[in-house]
Amino acid sequence: MTGLLQALGRVLLSWGLASCCALPVAAQWYEATQPIMGTRVHAEVWSLDEADARRALADVMAEMHRINALMSPYIDTSELSLINANAARMPVSTSRELMELLARSARLSELTDGAFDVTFASIGRRYDYRAGAKPDEDEISAALPAIDYRHVLLDWQAMTVAFARAGVSIDLGGIAKGHAVDRAAAILRSRGFEHASVSAGGDSVIIGDRMGQPWTVGVRHPDDADRMSAILPLEDTAVSTSGDYERYFDENGVRYHHILDPDTGDSARAIRSVTILGPDSTTTDGLSTSVFVLGLEDGLALINQLPGIDAIVIDGDGNLHYSDDLSSLGSQ
Ligand code: ADP
Ligand code: MG
Repeated sequence: MTGLLQALGRVLLSWGLASCCALPVAAQWYEATQPIMGTRVHAEVWSLDEADARRALADVMAEMHRINALMSPYIDTSELSLINANAARMPVSTSRELMELLARSARLSELTDGAFDVTFASIGRRYDYRAGAKPDEDEISAALPAIDYRHVLLDWQAMTVAFARAGVSIDLGGIAKGHAVDRAAAILRSRGFEHASVSAGGDSVIIGDRMGQPWTVGVRHPDDADRMSAILPLEDTAVSTSGDYERYFDENGVRYHHILDPDTGDSARAIRSVTILGPDSTTTDGLSTSVFVLGLEDGLALINQLPGIDAIVIDGDGNLHYSDDLSSLGSQ
């Protein structure tokens, strides 16, 4: 019986293909995945037209590559690297896009009392998580005064960036992926896609629903990549997760990972992961890094005062905590 149905299906399919031009073609999902910005970039769209979908997905990937070339600290010719190499000696001409992201980062630094600070890299660049290398205490105390977002001077007339002192380095790793995802989502919206998603590592924007169902985004277990601590049904939102398991090494039972407390130059260790929900991915990305540094109490206090933003925190014991608007989830 099954064989008969399959055969019938093949006949119908070949008939459908042969006479496709007379029949309406059904809409379907199209997706693309690429490694960009040191992470996995993924985009999916629901479309009636394959060519439209493929063009949009290619444009999303091109946009991600463009932003990487502008903001990567690993590319010597990126604008960000040119700033790091020269801005302590002279003002460096910079694109409006990068200036605006630096200005937005500075506003986030004000909001978080310096927990988010792109000059963390003044010490952050001395860690090599793959090689298991970290700065010693003397290096940290010598470099610590260079961490302060107020050292980054933006001149909007001249369109330049300068550093107020030597030893300052910046890195947009805590917000650039969110920015890239927002730009990609804007491309998809402008082409009229109403059901789509785009993500770069732990930062995603979700457009519409998944055709009658919500999208689901998992919050992984901090110690087991194959286990989910929570699964969130979501529509029309941005979501970002920061965890201490992305880039790290363990030494003598202490985890050295990629989110630094700007006050100490050491990894922030109060919690294991933070997921932020909000209107756009630049906001959720920046806030996930911020709340990771702030820790459970101060982090949730900040989120609870921001309308339209929610958070899920996994503490050091693996317990989940929710911001006020989500707290009904915790009692289910
Ligand atoms: P991921 O990059 O794993 O998605 P996050 O969004 O939390 O996770 O960003 C972590 C990155 O943020 C680090 O790799 C680093 O580039 C940057 N970063 C680390 N500490 C800070 C900080 N205190 N303020 C701003 N950016 C930071
Ligand atoms: Mg972030």
